[in-house]
Amino acid sequence: MDSNAQEGLLTVDLKALEDNYQNLCARLADGSNCGAVVKADAYGLGMERVAPKLYRCGCRDFFVATQAEGEALIPLLPADVRIMVLTGVRDGCEKACAQAGLIPALFTFQQVNNWVKYTQIEGKAAPCAVKVDSGLTRLGMTGADFNKLLSDERLLSAANIQLLFSHLACADEPQRQHNGVQLQNFQQFAAQLRAQSPGVRLSLANSSGIYLGDRYHFDLARPGAALYGVNPKPGQLNPMRAVVNLRVPVIQQRRLHESAYVGYGATQQVAAGSWLAVARAGYADGVLRAQSGRGWGVAGDVKVPMVGRLSMDTCVFDVSGLSSSQRESLVHIELLNRQLKLDEVASYGGTNGYEVLTSLGHRYARCYLDD
Ligand SMILES: *Cc1c(COP(=O)(O)O)cnc(C)c1O
Repeated sequence: MDSNAQEGLLTVDLKALEDNYQNLCARLADGSNCGAVVKADAYGLGMERVAPKLYRCGCRDFFVATQAEGEALIPLLPADVRIMVLTGVRDGCEKACAQAGLIPALFTFQQVNNWVKYTQIEGKAAPCAVKVDSGLTRLGMTGADFNKLLSDERLLSAANIQLLFSHLACADEPQRQHNGVQLQNFQQFAAQLRAQSPGVRLSLANSSGIYLGDRYHFDLARPGAALYGVNPKPGQLNPMRAVVNLRVPVIQQRRLHESAYVGYGATQQVAAGSWLAVARAGYADGVLRAQSGRGWGVAGDVKVPMVGRLSMDTCVFDVSGLSSSQRESLVHIELLNRQLKLDEVASYGGTNGYEVLTSLGHRYARCYLDD
């Protein structure tokens, strides 16, 4: 066994990823395509394996966060894809970005101006995307900047805008009026731009946005989290399959002869007679420290509680609930599986599934399941 495997095993089920992608495709309105967000190393699961798999599923529109991520993605995929960079292009990097064939999301008038200035060949700039602020108030072109762009016909005709998009603030809360407000704002931006550049594609929905209904789908959806198993409909049954399984080795078991405090800070006392199992994974491996005293693992098929504070490299479970034969055969504990889902683990750590995934450490062996 390689030494990493002894340190835990992160299994990524590419078949489940495929099912999730197809499931989202099937939800989209006619004429709407499904892209994929593979930023942050495909939310920690490994862009190198995830992106080619999504390509084989039919995906042709990929989104990354940074130019460096885009440059790393290019050699992984055939040439007939579009790679959009969600945080755009830094000043001075326009030419390199265009030469690499990446499509930056531009979010100020000045950026569009620079893009045309530095990438234009024979009156036409390299392809770009424009991101508008419909109500997230993060990146995104303001209405004022957008109007300035629309009124500059020369710039607009040179700009080669292929995609207009915006991002929803609370798509995972379908009852919020803010979703409708953003939809309307986006429709206005879109109508204005399309009046002058009819070929521009439109995109609004992330994973949860897909579940807000057809009106949110436009030409292209941009799911990330749901592909990787995060529930796009919090509080309801998760329509996505689990993609990640994480198992970590048990490196010590012991019975307490007297009651004892477990872990740093001596925050939690465990009764005499309890059985404890120490697992080789801690917060440096993405096992969120915030779930100290609240988290769970699965031993065999028994849910076992974490006790005391999590450390950097280890965490401790109370396995008193196991039978003696179950304890004897206990070699690993699962921290993410079908029984212990991403969103549940996230809730113990006071966060969301996105953070659980992107925190996954690099000390595990990784195994990719595919046909
Ligand atoms: C990360 C991101 C997405 C993907 O969102 P999910 O909620 O993971 O589906 C889509 N669009 C933008 C602009 C993003 O930054």
